[in-house]
Amino acid sequence: MIKKFLQKVFNKRAKADAAINNAELSDTSAAKVISAKHHKIDKSLISQSALKTCDGLQKAGFEAFIVGGAVRDLLMNVKPKDFDIATNATPEEVYKVFRRSRIIGRRFRLVHVLWGNETIEVSTFRGHHLAEGDALTNDSGRIIRDNIFGSLEEDAVRRDFTANALYYNPANEQVLDFHNGVADLKNNLLRMIGDPTIRYQEDPVRMLRAVRLSAKLGLKIEKSTQAPIQKLADLLQDVPPSRLFDEMLKLFLSGHAVESINALREQHLHHGLLPLLDVVLEQPLGEKFVMLALKNTDDRIRIGKSSNPSFLFATLLWHEMLVAWKKYQAQDNHPIPALHMAMNEVIDIQAGKMAIHNRFTATMKEIWAMQPRFEQRAGRRPYALLTHPRYRAGYDFLLLRCESGEIDPEIGDWWTEFADASTERRTEMLLPDTSPKKRRRKRKKPANSDKTLLESVASEHID
Ligand code: ATP
Ligand code: MG
Repeated sequence: MIKKFLQKVFNKRAKADAAINNAELSDTSAAKVISAKHHKIDKSLISQSALKTCDGLQKAGFEAFIVGGAVRDLLMNVKPKDFDIATNATPEEVYKVFRRSRIIGRRFRLVHVLWGNETIEVSTFRGHHLAEGDALTNDSGRIIRDNIFGSLEEDAVRRDFTANALYYNPANEQVLDFHNGVADLKNNLLRMIGDPTIRYQEDPVRMLRAVRLSAKLGLKIEKSTQAPIQKLADLLQDVPPSRLFDEMLKLFLSGHAVESINALREQHLHHGLLPLLDVVLEQPLGEKFVMLALKNTDDRIRIGKSSNPSFLFATLLWHEMLVAWKKYQAQDNHPIPALHMAMNEVIDIQAGKMAIHNRFTATMKEIWAMQPRFEQRAGRRPYALLTHPRYRAGYDFLLLRCESGEIDPEIGDWWTEFADASTERRTEMLLPDTSPKKRRRKRKKPANSDKTLLESVASEHID
């Protein structure tokens, strides 16, 4: 039995070795090879799915490495949150190796290999963007085409930081280091590969990545990598709003949002990103509220809890919402319609710079629209609010408003007690109903009313 098993294992091995030997191996002479004895990567931190993906590709005769942020995190003994694989197989070849995989992306095609509910992203080595010779950058030097396959060495050059250009081969446990990334990491340095000015011009998002990664990993941005940032900050205006959103979302959910925002402000990178946030951070109450919200999010993420991006963006824009709400009320609009006008205005202005995905804006509006309802503590209204599907988010938001000094903490305390109180205690807690009952007549809803249900319910409460 054992003999049979060993035979099977050895046969498999021999087959794999033959496959590897047949493949055209990459030229690694320009790389430092760091063995397991020196890098001491703890293999138990590597996802089984990533290992199976590398193994599958290698058995099919291709090269495959774990690459990028995952290797950097492993070297720092941090469990990576996702794994990317780089290979010399084309997307079609990768797709053929794995039954459960799909090719994604239009500009540069990648393959998602699915293992249970984990997805491993596999990309073919990418070549240098100048290889084709025609104009691949726009007037400000931003790369607009970047879709050429290349060699392993070329793939390393086009990565952003030295610490992100490391290739780990699980089969022999070696790390290939083309740009001295391991030494930089040891010295706690985040260093751009190549000429930093050109690299930021090619892709201004790299400035945000420098700030985010240095905050997340406690790395210092190396001097020449740091130097051009302030001067080039305006290039971010040129980046598509949806790309900025994705990057900012990573930053806010990194568990180091407070440090990241502070660093963005120090480097003057925050202007124009969240145009309304600029204004908010300049008012003491707004700043306190945003910083409290970010700290809360960081704390949650660091203990492994999830954080809802809608909640976070609702906090970031709240004080601007308050200003707009006041403005519309001063123009003689009823409070609830004014609230809706303000919500739409704030989200529209934001969309021009860093478009918040629609799937988040709907929840943001629900959280905001709930806030005036917390002030109504008489009659049946508090009971109705407790059954709102987003009550918990609305309540957490209310507590932040109390903690930041925007409203009387007594309201937050009241809701904390009311939510868990017995039926008798709840009745005792209700405030006297002062709404003019006589004026509460039943109105027939006009057939073509464009008010939402929430608006009509809420305006009935406020009238
Ligand atoms: P994180 O820990 O947040 O995932 P990461 O460095 O892995 O950080 P990803 O966005 O997952 O970031 O990118 C994976 C890899 O792709 C990076 O490590 C880097 O090698 C490369 N990369 C990502 N964005 C860029 C960019 N703008 N320019 C050059 N290389 C990039
Ligand atoms: Mg990553």
